[in-house]
Amino acid sequence: MEYDLLIRGGRVVDGSHGAVPFPADVAVRGDRIAAVGPLSDARAAIVIEASGRLVSPGFIDPHVHSETALRGNRDEFGALLQGVTTHLTGADGFGWAGVGDQDVASLWQSTAFAYGQGEMHPNWPSPGRYLESFHDLPLNVAALAPHQAIRFGTLGWTDRPATRAELRAMRRSTREWLEAGAVGLATGLDYQPAASATTEELVALCREAAAAGVVYAPHQRYNELGRAGAFAETIEIGRRAGIAVAVSHEFVDDETEPILDGARADVDITIDWYLYPAGSTHLLSLLPVAEAAGGPRAVRARLSDPGEKERVARLFDESLEQSSRSGAREYFSATRTGRHIGRSIAEVASQAGASRGETAVDLLLEEMPDALLVFRRNTPPETFAALARRTLAWPGFMVASDGIYHGALPHPRAFGCFARVLGQFVRTDRAISIGDAVYRMAGFPAERYRLRDRGRIAAGLAADLVVFDPETVDGPATWDEPRLPPTGIDAVILNGALVVDHGLPTGLRRGRVLRREG
Ligand SMILES: [Zn+2]
Repeated sequence: MEYDLLIRGGRVVDGSHGAVPFPADVAVRGDRIAAVGPLSDARAAIVIEASGRLVSPGFIDPHVHSETALRGNRDEFGALLQGVTTHLTGADGFGWAGVGDQDVASLWQSTAFAYGQGEMHPNWPSPGRYLESFHDLPLNVAALAPHQAIRFGTLGWTDRPATRAELRAMRRSTREWLEAGAVGLATGLDYQPAASATTEELVALCREAAAAGVVYAPHQRYNELGRAGAFAETIEIGRRAGIAVAVSHEFVDDETEPILDGARADVDITIDWYLYPAGSTHLLSLLPVAEAAGGPRAVRARLSDPGEKERVARLFDESLEQSSRSGAREYFSATRTGRHIGRSIAEVASQAGASRGETAVDLLLEEMPDALLVFRRNTPPETFAALARRTLAWPGFMVASDGIYHGALPHPRAFGCFARVLGQFVRTDRAISIGDAVYRMAGFPAERYRLRDRGRIAAGLAADLVVFDPETVDGPATWDEPRLPPTGIDAVILNGALVVDHGLPTGLRRGRVLRREG
């Protein structure tokens, strides 16, 4: 038999729940998997010898900030080199389309900490036009309906509950995203303007998403409610809207395990996480979220008043005091001016001879909209290993990088997350079996987000495939060298095309925009 591409002599981990590797050849014709099994008489224009290698479906990242990288910034292959073949857009509810007469540039500015400045000029009139704007992609994308854009399109930066008419307008906008093919509804309740939404608003919008059969993916309201309170709100929304919930960047510990297990009786709840002992977000996140109300311009205007400046400096001081008591250390990963990279606020303060709080306010004014920090936690390695093991074992867990492809010293999760699961947690720590790991990186997210022909290896499904060496695969990216590429990922096939060969991008860009079916 003649095929376009043949992966010969490897063992297949097919991405399904409970998968065990089995020896098989995989043949591709066009953009589909044509055959899986012993194919000794098969021939193909491209043959990949995979003896000693594993063959898995391409990985799916449901929470990642790659909208500018996908359009071709210097990090465009950072995810693909790890075997990731599909990204969901709209993490934390960020999006910039369909906002009508509102000042979309200011919304874009408020998210620039995660995407860089000036790399994208958002002016898409509708969700459909936004999705059409993705082309020549390094990997596939599917959209989450972005709550930030949905609220902003109706209320702008207004920080009050929506009226009934406004709620109707937001429901209409949510339906527009769903009709354009969105595979879920995402929000980020520690960011304005979404932070101004009430639980009622979220229930109303989630009812639209539930009617379309897709999930609610929240970055929960931690800043205002604390972790337990934030989970309580999410679970209430899930119950009242009758919607499945996919909580962003959460893990399983003594606090969350009883909450998650308790919720599962009446809410279909899952979590995703990147499995590193550090987070990353903007400088403003050290303040109560109400301080960000009104958007970047309003923040700047308030801080022109000396009394306000003093008050906010005190808030920064309290927040930094709390975080240093916990042993955490923050450092700048991106700034508008390019200064202070790798340094903490305390280090910048001692050089300036000012207090941490005063320095933080000055930095906010100088570096907005672009002050991005990495927050490293002071978790002993064995404690972290136990936390990872516990999270990886929880049945509702899937992997997501939360990658930010921007800045001088980004969080290494963007360049290492998926490959590191295979190296650190499968091979070294034996925290999870290879079949289970691939399920949580491919089959599970595909089921969750209704990407029906992705996430598994079987004849007739889309040919998104990864060939890797189980003995050498890893994500070596570190805090100091976050852009180190993965090891052991030999080949990546995207919609039938060989896009990574011998660990290097071939330059082919065959990604597609995937839309929810039915
Ligand atoms: Zn988030």
